[in-house]
Amino acid sequence: MSGMTQKIDIRKYSLADLEEFFVAKGDKKFRAKQVYDWLWNKSLKNFDEMSNISKETRELLKAHFIINHVKVDHMQRSTDGTIKNAVKLFDGKVVESVLIPTEKRITACVSSQVGCSLDCNFCATARLKRMRNLNADEIYDQVVAIKDEAEQYFNRPLTNIVLMGMGEPLLNYQNVMQAIDKITSPEGLGMAPRRITLSTAGIPKMIKKMADDGVKFKLAISLHSAINETRNKLMPINEVNPLEDLIDSLKYWYQKTKSIVTYEYVVWEGINDDERHALALANFCKYVPSKVNLIQYNPIDEGDFRQAAQSKVDMYVRILENHGIVAKVRKSRGQDIDAACGQLANKNETAIL
Ligand code: SAH
Repeated sequence: MSGMTQKIDIRKYSLADLEEFFVAKGDKKFRAKQVYDWLWNKSLKNFDEMSNISKETRELLKAHFIINHVKVDHMQRSTDGTIKNAVKLFDGKVVESVLIPTEKRITACVSSQVGCSLDCNFCATARLKRMRNLNADEIYDQVVAIKDEAEQYFNRPLTNIVLMGMGEPLLNYQNVMQAIDKITSPEGLGMAPRRITLSTAGIPKMIKKMADDGVKFKLAISLHSAINETRNKLMPINEVNPLEDLIDSLKYWYQKTKSIVTYEYVVWEGINDDERHALALANFCKYVPSKVNLIQYNPIDEGDFRQAAQSKVDMYVRILENHGIVAKVRKSRGQDIDAACGQLANKNETAIL
């Protein structure tokens, strides 16, 4: 291999980078657009399949680049139709993504990091330490894999995307934004930004940055408690980013984007299942236009957390509705294959982690 330079992953190149490459090689600028379209819109894995590109140019590309792609290594189907993919990355690491079918929608839930650095006590992903950020193409490819499965198994198009898999998307900001750009661009999947939701444990500085960057997708916050003392115990990130700072960033977000915020909230027995917590949530919801998803707790081990009784969830709904706040109770999906919220932990891959 002496004298040969290391080949570059072509999917790290932007359209402008590719244009520069072709112009420097004495080719036409529009060649870049053709290649880019094969790489992103058509998700080609092989230069030789680029049928409108001359053999000579394909050889030139092969001499400089490789095409990295993720691979669905293992697929599990739940009795409720949910599909979980174990996705192998080019370096052998694995993340999980989930296809969630409902009557009206098919939603892709994708990961943004291998593991997670936040230590939310109730989440299985937190048990894996953060190993690395995903590249933009690795996030994008998870969506493409689910889009293909939606067509293959359900004969329906992918309608929604949630960044609610493994990892904290706002701690991998640049790659997540690039992935969303590709998902929404005509050269990529051409999806409407309003069909994408980014979920965060709440990093005020980055929420403000998103607002400044003029993003058009929706925002969800994993809240779980509107009382600092309780939230500190559930999500250590709250100790450095308390609710006051979160509120401040959400006001900023709403002022700039006019986009309503969703709060994700689990009611746990003995932790936040009393009126005091429900009222605190109702008050919290008044800072910016928002709605609440009351999500069911998915047990991750024999641990300290138990889903609160239905009567307590009903109490939350009643109090929120009395305050004019829209609250929906979300049933868990894919629990039998550990595909539900907070259950993504590469269980079938423990050997390599
Ligand atoms: N880090 C981001 C993205 C992960 S989203 C975030 O925190 O929003 C995963 C969602 O599942 C979050 O709302 C999280 O609070 C929730 N979750 C985690 N563990 C859970 C569990 N065991 N049962 C139900 N929901 C859980």
